[in-house]
Amino acid sequence: MLTRAQVVIVGAGVIGASIAYHLALRGCRDLLIVEKEASEVSGSTARSAAGVRHQFSSRTNILLSRYSIEKLRSFDTEVGGHAELHQVGYLFLVNDAATWAQYQRNAALQRELAVRVELLSPAEVARFVPGTRSDDLVGATFGPDDGYCDPYGIAMGYLRAARRMGARLQRATAVTGFAISGGAVTGVTTTGGPIACDVVINAAGPWAGEVAALAGLDVPVRPYRRNVYLTAPFPELPGPMPLTIDVGSGFYMRHEGASILMGKSNPDEPSSFTLNVDWAWLDHVLEAGLYRFPFLAKASLAERQCWAGLYEITPDHNPILGRHPDLAGYLDASGFSGHGIMHAPATGMLIAEELLDGRAHTIDIDELRISRFRGGRHHLEQNIV
Ligand SMILES: Cc1cc2nc3c(=O)[nH]c(=O)nc-3n(C[C@H](O)[C@H](O)[C@H](O)COP(=O)(O)OP(=O)(O)OC[C@H]3O[C@@H](n4cnc5c(N)ncnc54)[C@H](O)[C@@H]3O)c2cc1C
Repeated sequence: MLTRAQVVIVGAGVIGASIAYHLALRGCRDLLIVEKEASEVSGSTARSAAGVRHQFSSRTNILLSRYSIEKLRSFDTEVGGHAELHQVGYLFLVNDAATWAQYQRNAALQRELAVRVELLSPAEVARFVPGTRSDDLVGATFGPDDGYCDPYGIAMGYLRAARRMGARLQRATAVTGFAISGGAVTGVTTTGGPIACDVVINAAGPWAGEVAALAGLDVPVRPYRRNVYLTAPFPELPGPMPLTIDVGSGFYMRHEGASILMGKSNPDEPSSFTLNVDWAWLDHVLEAGLYRFPFLAKASLAERQCWAGLYEITPDHNPILGRHPDLAGYLDASGFSGHGIMHAPATGMLIAEELLDGRAHTIDIDELRISRFRGGRHHLEQNIV
């Protein structure tokens, strides 16, 4: 057990792994990643639906995606490992005029930032997903460079590369407290003993709010269960298909091999760390899915392949990044609200800049800093799945 490191990263998920990689790449190698579980990449990263998309409503999120997806394209050769990026596109189906106006504004902003996105009429949707009910749709947007990836492969690729450069990983060790002196972090206490350090980066995913509380900080990241349901192999499946979202109901689906992976958030479920699959919620998911995609009636459920995981949600559905104004040596990198995989490459790069250059600069993260909640300066991300 190490007793000293310059930088301690709490959490060995895709975010902690990306931060470790980017710091090590820039020569900051006295790093220790502390993970409470017996194995790395066993939190939300291993339970994600793996979607990556440019189609957001805020400039910052679009830029985070643009940087990250570009990096995922060259991940296997640049970092090593398997990103398995499939750019099959994301298709958003919209069924009311106000939301359609918002999606058209989003598309204009995405194009302004050099992101490819198409506006489609309801009739054109059948080109992408034959058999979709489109008589009540107003329009759709299609991002051809969106798609899905392998989150486990990405996180493990970053971790292995970081460790090759000298970063260390301490498994089965939970951070249980902070040592603070003169308004600055001087170390952490863990289930394996104390570790002295100059910097702590909170990359604890759905547990980030709890980890921050150990330092006396109120960081509004809360865990919410999300269920993912799989069908058995399904020969009636329409051919290659984008990740498709019925915006009105929140139902989404994509290919997973020969099966369909699908889900829909339950907006009324309270925050919890519950991880068992919600079978009662499946009725609501199927009702929404069958309405929009009647061909799903021919599919059968692969019950043993379904799972639940935790979204790490903030009040405005945007991550909290950067130095904390109330505690020197403490940085936040959490609260991705369902976008942590697709924003991991940019986050690692930006947190490394924040630490080593004094301030993140490749992308302006001011609107993602925790201080936004103090003056009510936070803006809700509209494109939430
Ligand atoms: C069902 C589902 C679908 C999703 N779909 C998508 C998607 O399509 N696209 C997308 O981009 N994102 C998606 N997400 C979100 C994405 O999975 C997360 O944003 C991302 O995995 C966050 O990564 P992380 O490294 O911050 O968290 P995690 O992977 O949870 O890693 C945090 C780590 O911190 C460790 N830890 C916690 N507390 C402590 C402690 N006190 N001491 C030591 N270690 C600690 C945990 O054990 C864990 O290993 C989805 C999530 C779920 C649940």
